[in-house]
Amino acid sequence: MHDHRRLGRELDLFDTDPLIGAGLPYWLPDGAIVRHELEEYIRGAEREAGYRHVYSPVLGKRELYEISGHWDHYSDDMFPPMDLGDDLMAADQVVLRPSLCPHHALIYRSRAHSYRELPLRMAELGGMYRSELSGVLGGLTRVRAIHLNDAHVFCTLDQAVDEARAALKLIDRAYADLGIRAVRHRLSLPGEGGKYVADPELWQRATALLREVLDGSGIPYEAVEGEAAFYGPKIDVQIADLVGREATLSTVQIDFHQPERFDLHYIGPDGAKHRPVMVHRSIIGSVERAVAHLIEQHGGAFPVWLAPVQLRILPVAEAQYGAAEKLLDRARRMGLRAEISGPEHGTLGARVRAARLVPYQAVIGEREAAADGEPVAVRLRDGRRPGAVPGSELVARIAARVAARGTELWDAPAL
Ligand SMILES: [Zn+2]
Repeated sequence: MHDHRRLGRELDLFDTDPLIGAGLPYWLPDGAIVRHELEEYIRGAEREAGYRHVYSPVLGKRELYEISGHWDHYSDDMFPPMDLGDDLMAADQVVLRPSLCPHHALIYRSRAHSYRELPLRMAELGGMYRSELSGVLGGLTRVRAIHLNDAHVFCTLDQAVDEARAALKLIDRAYADLGIRAVRHRLSLPGEGGKYVADPELWQRATALLREVLDGSGIPYEAVEGEAAFYGPKIDVQIADLVGREATLSTVQIDFHQPERFDLHYIGPDGAKHRPVMVHRSIIGSVERAVAHLIEQHGGAFPVWLAPVQLRILPVAEAQYGAAEKLLDRARRMGLRAEISGPEHGTLGARVRAARLVPYQAVIGEREAAADGEPVAVRLRDGRRPGAVPGSELVARIAARVAARGTELWDAPAL
């Protein structure tokens, strides 16, 4: 494993500037490609699983967080409120949101819902803010602005276990596609102290359902006290960094508290109002932490579908430029991220070494160019050399690997 902060700078993925501030990284073009692909992947997986996406503002009135309970239980981690206008009454203060849940509860509440619409799955990849002390900030893992892959499923009590279990399956599939390894699953329970909302019966019900989810899916887990959210227990999927330090990437929660606080309801088959359950879940957690982990896990050699550059074309000499440009054009028309590195960038050996993180390299020499750019000599990042492959076949193979996701580079199923 590698230090994502060092690699992030070396590979021009992200950086920080003291004038923007600690814990507020910006993304350079190559990093933005990785992030964009990751976000699109998640949105696609969510659409397939029946989620619908919303956008909500990163600010809300202080009163909103008083209702949700964040103000009482979580304000140490929140930025101070901002006064709007010259009316200094509390109701006119806004805060950078510490989570997306309250906004989603309000979006749900804004329309009447019948039991037929449930489970209603609402997703958003949105910003939230945490007032971390500057001493602990660094890279993409400890930041003050977090972009969370979040979702809330509003459902009946009978549907909650299935929805939570489906969320765990989505997490599993995403980890396989991204090459992420979970080190353990944790059932996070409340600990001592006033950090948690008091309602022992709701805590017990939610904990029993989460145990049912975990037991039913056959996943080994440990119950740990003191790691719950302030409003309920959760399942945390833990990953480890390069020195084995654990962090939570993905979470699944079953929540009875927020639906009460926001007085949410749906109309049941009996025509009466009923209280829905909220399942909070995040597949890859924050994009910051997910990309940091991907950088460390893969040492910058991203799976081909995430790689900033997927194919580097290496004409041996100036004379093969025309053939290289034809292949570049072909690759781009297939939607691939390809570029040419010509002799002006050094010897062929130096250019091959410089492309060590690029999944595919296509070397075009005199022989290849004579055949109108076909075939090309293919090298894979992992050292394999599949040999001479027609340019059209190479481009089709790469496109198939991109579409299939996963981490394999060449042994593709038959095209
Ligand atoms: Zn939530």
